[in-house]
Amino acid sequence: MVAHRGILFLDEAPEFPPRVLDSLRQPVESGQVTVSRANGSVTFPARFTLVLAANPCPCGLSGEAGRFCTCTPSVRRRYLSRLSGPLLDRVDVKVRLSPPTRAELLADRALTESSATVAERVVEARERAAARLTGTPWRLNAEVPSSLLHGGWRLDHRVLAPLHRAVDVGTLSARGVDRVLRVAWTIADISRRPRPSADEISLALTMWMGEEL
Ligand SMILES: [Zn+2]
Repeated sequence: MVAHRGILFLDEAPEFPPRVLDSLRQPVESGQVTVSRANGSVTFPARFTLVLAANPCPCGLSGEAGRFCTCTPSVRRRYLSRLSGPLLDRVDVKVRLSPPTRAELLADRALTESSATVAERVVEARERAAARLTGTPWRLNAEVPSSLLHGGWRLDHRVLAPLHRAVDVGTLSARGVDRVLRVAWTIADISRRPRPSADEISLALTMWMGEEL
């Protein structure tokens, strides 16, 4: 797989045929892809970061100030429903982007962080995760199996309260629980905390659900 240990980016994801999108579920879950042919099947490593981009509607103008979207509600619903629940379940972070405002475009860029500064923070967070994972076959929080998340890395029940509530009301699936936990550990690593608190759990949950931060 060309995307192994890299990034697989699908722009305008709802335009892809449903069978293509659904075929991503297995490699995203297992880090492997199995190709079956009449004379047998072959399994390749496929641990990649999946990035999906989608417009809010087919014309792409919905939600833009001063622009007029001509899509009917049913067209809009059908468009977004092409990204199925089981696929979105496996997407850890969902972010809604709005077009930059004039003020943002004209803002002093000297006050914004450079990519190099952010990259340093990412490297440091990855080192913290790797140090915690010393002696295991894993290096990244994304690779940590469910058994460790709920075993050696188990968090206090008060810290997990936001997760338990989300499961109780049905907004978070069982698979989602593990994904939110892994992101919460990553947020803790970025924040230089030894382990996630309820704040990191809530933030990871908010990002998994795709709500406004
Ligand atoms: Zn539209």
